[in-house]
Amino acid sequence: MSHLWTIPGPGVHVKKTFKLKVLFNVMKISEVACKSILVKSRIYGVDYAVNPYTGCQHNCAYCYATFMKRYTSHKEPWGQFVDVKLNAPSILKTQLKTIKKGRILFSSVTDAYQPVEAQYEITRKCLTQLKNASFYVSVLTKSALVTRDIDILKELSCEVGFTFTTLDEAVRGQFESGSSSLRERLQALKEVSQAGIRTYAFFGPILPFISDSSQAISEMFTVLEEYVSYVIVDRMNLYNTSWERIRSVLSSWNPELIPKYAALRAKTDYDFVLRKRIAEIATVPVEYCF
Ligand code: SF4
Repeated sequence: MSHLWTIPGPGVHVKKTFKLKVLFNVMKISEVACKSILVKSRIYGVDYAVNPYTGCQHNCAYCYATFMKRYTSHKEPWGQFVDVKLNAPSILKTQLKTIKKGRILFSSVTDAYQPVEAQYEITRKCLTQLKNASFYVSVLTKSALVTRDIDILKELSCEVGFTFTTLDEAVRGQFESGSSSLRERLQALKEVSQAGIRTYAFFGPILPFISDSSQAISEMFTVLEEYVSYVIVDRMNLYNTSWERIRSVLSSWNPELIPKYAALRAKTDYDFVLRKRIAEIATVPVEYCF
C-alpha cells in the first residue's frame, strides 16, 4: 500500500526460508507462523488491518512501512525479504468469531498482492474466510494480481483501491520497481470496476516536482475519473528514514532534484498549496491524508 501505520501484530515463528533470484537482487522468502492476523488499526476510517506478509517485493523508495523490519530478524534491506504468514487464513477464521464487526484493510504495511501472493494465495484464502462474515473489506494495492480474486471480491461487501503516484512508467520504475506496470494497473482497475466492484484510487504520495504540477494532477484525474468513486490523496513524507531511500533513487536517476527535495523538507506552505491545487482540479470526490 501506500502505507499508513498500524499496530504491528505479535511475533512470528520462522518455519522455512529460501532465496529467490529476482532480477539482480536475491529475494529472501521465509515461511512463518503468526499468532494473530487481524490487528486493530489507527488509520482513519479503518478498524482492522490484515497483513498476510511482512516485507514487500514492491520495494517502493518512499515506503513508510520499512519500520516493520525491526519486527523481523532480517539483515536484508527492505524490499529484499518477505515473510509469508502461512497460517494467516486459519488464524483469521478463529479471530473473526470473536471480534466486533468493522472495516478491514488489506493491507497497511505490506501489499497483499505482491508477486509472492501468486504462489501462496494467502490473501485469497483470507478473503475466502470473510465470505458471509459481515465485515467490510477495503483492498489497496499496486498489483494487477488482484483481478485473480474478482470472483471472491464480488461476494464480499468491499471496495478495491489502486495506488498511483505518477502516470510516467519510467518514474514508476524508479520509485516502485517491483510493482505492476502502470498499463497493467490501469487495466486491472478497469476490470475490477467493470466487474461491478466499488473502486477508488490512492493518489500518493504525490511526487514533488514530478506529479504535483497542475498538469500532472489534471492528467491523473482524467485517467481515473471514469473508473473510481473517489480518490484519496497524500503528499510525500520526507521523514529521515524514507528520505535516505528517496535520495538514493534521485542520486542515480535525477540528482538535480536532490536540493529541491531537501529544500522542501523545510518548506511550510507546500501542503496548503498542494491541497488548494488539487481541490481546484479534482473531478471526483477527494479525501485528504494531509
Ligand atoms: S507497496 Fe509495499 S513497498 Fe510499496 S509502499 Fe506499500 S508496503 Fe511499501
